[in-house]
Amino acid sequence: MEMELWYTENQTPALGLSLKVKETLLRCRTDFQEIAILDTVQCGRMLILDGMVQTTIADEFIYHEMIAHVPLRTHPAPRSVLVIGGGDGGVVREICRYPQVEQVTLVEIDAGVVEASRRYLPEISSALDDTRLEIIYQDGREYVCSCNDAFDVIIVDSTEPVAIAEGLFGTPFYQGVFQALKGGGILVAQTESPFYNAALLQATFQRIHAIFPQSFLYLASVPTYPSGLWSFTLGTKGSSPLEPAGDYLPPELRYYSPHIHRSSFTLPPFVQELLYQNVSPEPPAF
Ligand code: SAM
Repeated sequence: MEMELWYTENQTPALGLSLKVKETLLRCRTDFQEIAILDTVQCGRMLILDGMVQTTIADEFIYHEMIAHVPLRTHPAPRSVLVIGGGDGGVVREICRYPQVEQVTLVEIDAGVVEASRRYLPEISSALDDTRLEIIYQDGREYVCSCNDAFDVIIVDSTEPVAIAEGLFGTPFYQGVFQALKGGGILVAQTESPFYNAALLQATFQRIHAIFPQSFLYLASVPTYPSGLWSFTLGTKGSSPLEPAGDYLPPELRYYSPHIHRSSFTLPPFVQELLYQNVSPEPPAF
């Protein structure tokens, strides 16, 4: 009898997500993290970094459409866009759907992730050869401190706030992002799960809230992410996401729509309360 192989991500110390594995396509260690690509029965090929699910063929469209099209359609005319993290290329693919975007900069700390995605996740990395794209292999926290008044939209598509990504959730980083944004500029950062990362979500939202004139939280359902309910925090120097100023809507999107855009900002009471009430344990101080 053939032995079954399963991969389990421990999403909390007491809860895991298990997927039946057809084949291990890659497993290696770079200077920054362990990279694995598994082919799973339920979700197809998936990218795992340091044991945490980053993206799967089955549901990547949800996360990548929601982290990209909400800010790109809130801004009236995005021309220059910065992605921090995002080495799998999914966010870049969505940005490149906009003909009016002239320049995309991807700042990814680990070239190994880009190479793995190019080789094993071509559906996700398909726009990494777009002529508008520049890939810079650097710590995003250092990079933003070298920019001033440079980008219309900045998207932080980072791993969980541990190890190399820890600094991408702190006040100094968001202050750097604020400076790197042009007038009217918009930041979106993935800010984890309202169920399992309540303290971090609140702390991150409040850090962005303290820096930007307007800040908002929005939600989407990503089945393979911890709890399946995922949050994004938007800070804007200009347009409100509740009145999107952009008039271009890319064709053939599968999760994002103008109605989903608007409804994603309607928060259930437990999340609304989370943004402004104290939660314990105290969030880690970055
Ligand atoms: N969508 C995923 C999520 O929400 O967890 C993130 C996917 S993307 C692969 C995350 C990327 O962030 C990784 O490739 C990782 O190398 C990169 N990253 C982590 N810390 C970074 C830093 N300080 N600067 C630049 N990139 C970083």
